[in-house]
Formats: sequence, C-alpha cells, structure tokens
Amino acid sequence: MIRSALAALALTATLAACGARPDRAETVTIDPVLSTREAKQLFGAEATPSTQRSEPFGGYARGCLAGAEQLPETGSTWQAMRLSRNRNWGHPELIDYVQDLSRKAAQLPGWNGLYVGDMSQPRGGPMLTGHRSHQVGLDADIWMRPADNLNLSRSERENISSISLRRASGAYTNDNWTPQHHQLLKAAASDPRVARIFVFPGAKVRMCNEETGDRDWLRKIRPWWGHHYHFHVRLNCPDGARGCENQAPPPPGDGCDQAQEWVNNILNPPPPDPDAPAPTPRRELTMGDLPAQCAAVLAD
Ligand SMILES: [Zn+2]
Repeated sequence: MIRSALAALALTATLAACGARPDRAETVTIDPVLSTREAKQLFGAEATPSTQRSEPFGGYARGCLAGAEQLPETGSTWQAMRLSRNRNWGHPELIDYVQDLSRKAAQLPGWNGLYVGDMSQPRGGPMLTGHRSHQVGLDADIWMRPADNLNLSRSERENISSISLRRASGAYTNDNWTPQHHQLLKAAASDPRVARIFVFPGAKVRMCNEETGDRDWLRKIRPWWGHHYHFHVRLNCPDGARGCENQAPPPPGDGCDQAQEWVNNILNPPPPDPDAPAPTPRRELTMGDLPAQCAAVLAD
C-alpha cells in the first residue's frame, strides 16, 4: 500500500549532480507528503538562498532557483525598492543584467539609475502575494518612475510609489511618458540576454509609431495587462542551465500590429463570446507541480 502510494506520487527527474560528478544523472524523488503541500507557503517562508550552484529549475511560472544572488540594496546607479518583501534575489545573470541596465539608465536626462521592484524570493518559487511568474530568478520589475534620488531610506523605499504612464485603461500613454522611457525600454530589450519585456499596450504602440531606427528590439516588447507602473524584464535561460525551461520565442516581426489590435480591443471591446467555456479556477501550485529539484533547493 505504502509502496504503491509512493510509486504513484513519486516524481522522478534527472539532475546534473553538482560537485565532483557533474555528468552523473541522479533520480530525484519528492516525498509524497511534501508533494501535496502548497509551494508558496514553503518558498514564501525562506529568508535565505540555498548554498547550491546557481541554477533555475522549471519555468518562469512553475519553478525555483538554486544558489540565488542578492541585488545589493543600493548601488551607484540603482536602489532596490520594498526591501521588506525580500525579493531582490535572482540568478547571477539577472543581477548583472539589472546593474548593466541601471548604468545605461543613468545616462538618460533626469535619471540617475533605476528603482528596481520585485525580482525573486531567495529560493525563487511561488510567492504568497502577487506575481504568477518571477519563480526562477530571471524576471525583474523596473519602476517607470525616474530614479533621481539614490539615497532613499528603507522607509522611503517602502512608502514611495512609482508613477503610472497610462491613460484610457492602457490604450494610450499619459503625460508622464517621456522619450527617456522609450530609450530605456529600447536599451532593455536590445540586450541579447532578454527573452521578453512586458508593458501596457499603449506604450508599445507609441514606441512602434515613434521609432525611426532599428526595430528588431520591438519584437521583444510584449503588450500585457497592468505593467504601467513598472515594466517586466524576462531573461532567457542562461547557457548550460539544463533544468531551466524557456518560453517559445515571440512571433517573428515587430509585433506592432498585434499591439494595435490590443489597443483597439481596449477602446472597443468585442462582444463576449457566448460559447466561451467558463474559466477554470486556478489551483495553487503544490510541491508536486514543481520540478523535483525544487525539493532539494528547499531542503538545502
Ligand atoms: Zn513582473
């Protein structure tokens, strides 16, 4: 009985063992009791990273992060915001990326760098509040508010708000939009480490209309709900991270037509489809839903 329950619940996966025998595949099993527990309760309670080699496991919305690195709370060209959330963690490639982008931001008129919002928890994984993604240390939210003061105190970083750049529910930008936002998003998307950037549709359409040079970067700018107080950068899986699952790349082309369509649908919502199936309520992720390596990330 117990054996068959174990067999039914056991999850197996191959894992590149760390340390001395990197080529040996290992079978990893999640304990059957653990596999039924809500992952966000466990990952949300972890205050420190695992001591493992840095590696994302799973996908952006169903995974975890071994060996996270912390974005220092303050650098010469950035400040991490909302420190109480303890979400200024990521894969080392994300930490490098954010720092590189902050140096580019510091070149823009009115900007001295970046205010950095949520990245990942110390061991990644699902969160108790907010975000479905941000689970593998490859996602970061960048505030739209120009970072003009990089001496904010902890309490200021809890209480100051970003600024919204949208009007008409995201169909258009508002008066807070500046050419610097275009330049920053262009710099952010032009980095080859980036897979996608999510921003409200009106921003993409505006950049589509105003870009006079290279347009390749626009392909990575994807319209999405929300994302008017911040934009969301998602990196590709790092080279050699075999347990990390990339998304399919964005469709070919600059995506400007689709963004315009999105805007049109905001302005003139299509009638609801009477045959549309009722949305299925979303179940909370359990440990059994995550890659088996995530149990080891928790246990480390
Ligand atoms: Zn985000």
